Amino acid sequence: MPQQVILLHADAPPKPPAGAACNGCGVCCAAEPCPLGALLSRRRRGACRALLWEAEGRGRYRCGVVAAPRRFVPWLPAAWTRRLALRWISSASGCDCTLEAA
Ligand code: SF4
Ligand code: SF4
Repeated sequence: MPQQVILLHADAPPKPPAGAACNGCGVCCAAEPCPLGALLSRRRRGACRALLWEAEGRGRYRCGVVAAPRRFVPWLPAAWTRRLALRWISSASGCDCTLEAA
């Protein structure tokens, strides 16, 4: 199985199994951008440039297009961008990442 080194914050939560609720571990977006992230990052490999570390609370990664839409898509109203992003990335459907973090 191919291996990939990704860099994550030391306080990032461990990746849950696929299908579990997303805990913001960041593994998926640090490994490879989603279609929206690929558009914004202008690449299809490596970490998405819209991936943000949120230090408040216990610490977690968040999609910057949802958390800070104006920063990444300044030409659209923030509410539109956030709504589109939430739908596009299926944020409510749990972890869809089958990568195994070691
Ligand atoms: S979808 Fe999965 S891999 Fe991606 S941040 Fe959420 S829990 Fe982590
Ligand atoms: S969900 Fe957000 S942070 Fe993750 S790859 Fe897609 S655009 Fe980037």
